[in-house]
Amino acid sequence: MPDHAPSQSAQSGPAQSGSADPEDRHDLVIRNGRIVDGTGRPAFLGDVGITDGRISAVGGQVGPGTRELDADGLLVTPGWVDIHTHYDGQATWDDVLAPTAWHGVTTLVMGNCGVGFAPAAPDRRDWLIGLMEGVEDIPGSALAEGIDWQWETFPEYLDALSTRRWTMDIGTQIAHGAVRAYVMGERGARNEPASPEDIRDMTELVREAIVAGALGFSTSRTIVHTAVDGEPVPGTFAAEDELFGIGSALGDLGTGIFELAPMGAAGEDIVGPVKEVDWMRRLSAKIGRPVTFALIQVDSAPDLWRELMDASLAAVEDGADIWPQVAGRATGLLSGHHTTYSLFDAFPAYQELKARQLSDEDLLVELQRPEVRGRSWVGSPTRRPRPASPVRTTARSCWATRLTTSPPRNGRSPGWPPRRGVTRSRSPTTRCSSRAATVCCTCPS
Ligand SMILES: [Zn+2]
Repeated sequence: MPDHAPSQSAQSGPAQSGSADPEDRHDLVIRNGRIVDGTGRPAFLGDVGITDGRISAVGGQVGPGTRELDADGLLVTPGWVDIHTHYDGQATWDDVLAPTAWHGVTTLVMGNCGVGFAPAAPDRRDWLIGLMEGVEDIPGSALAEGIDWQWETFPEYLDALSTRRWTMDIGTQIAHGAVRAYVMGERGARNEPASPEDIRDMTELVREAIVAGALGFSTSRTIVHTAVDGEPVPGTFAAEDELFGIGSALGDLGTGIFELAPMGAAGEDIVGPVKEVDWMRRLSAKIGRPVTFALIQVDSAPDLWRELMDASLAAVEDGADIWPQVAGRATGLLSGHHTTYSLFDAFPAYQELKARQLSDEDLLVELQRPEVRGRSWVGSPTRRPRPASPVRTTARSCWATRLTTSPPRNGRSPGWPPRRGVTRSRSPTTRCSSRAATVCCTCPS
């Protein structure tokens, strides 16, 4: 991966780990890279030898390779696992899985946040595309053109995926939105309450998916996640009997993870997330399965993340298996006059111009008019007609890492949950930029 501003200076030198006998031959040698081996030790310059598909040497200078790559100026690291992506459609037609493949990711997980493409009744395909487009800003036109619907059920979706090969390993979860619409039809799509029979049928579908190979079940509870028609993701307002009923499938099988974007995840409700942790801990304790949720710093409550970490830690100490997810870095956004998100969107005067559907040229002319410039920047911006969601941009995957709860100590990061007795740092391990901090999930398109 490209070497972006490493925090520690690299040292060249002799072997840091493994064999580095200069006489040994290897199938592949990656030379002159800045090696970050994942143990927490400082980066160092050196070579990596690979033989029979396994690392055979790491050191200052290893022996010759049948094939050699020059990694000068690049980082050489273990593969990254991106646990939060939305490649559900793209994985059915793209073997490369770009751009994630370009960033050192070797395993990704999709099917997050309650959106996915199975199960899919034939008359629900366009609706599922609209749901994904609305939530993740993946162009519906690309999904409609790219997806070859070879499935209806979730096991059939896995069968369709299994005919493909990618640049990395993938895993997927079954999504609440698809399940609800499949079982409840329009009632489910419109977020009406689920009956006991609905819950029974949804639970059975989730059970079937887990048995077939799904990694877990996902749902969304933030009103920022909406379909293109503005309807929140089916399941957003699901009552506990529905959540716990579906979760029981994971508990009964003794496998699978329960993933969600919680209420208030994007800062639209600063009280909601703490309440969410309460039912998450009870659910995890009841079904004996891990529950993981998107944790984001929001400007409206800049210390909310601390409360959520504390609540999660308390839940862990109480026996629950709770895993907050944070972004490994701030999210990059593309903003422009003709993207789905613009930095000017919040200003009424700009919305008026957009409503006129001007050409690029005419829009720029209008924006240069003194009276328009004056209007655009006077007063406080108002909310957009739809919840402001930079998710609806071409932001890219960033949920690459699970949270570490204190800075590296003795060169090592403790991971989650922290060891008992460890005093947690009050410094955020990840500090998102203001606007990007409201992004729930960043998504491949
Ligand atoms: Zn997501």
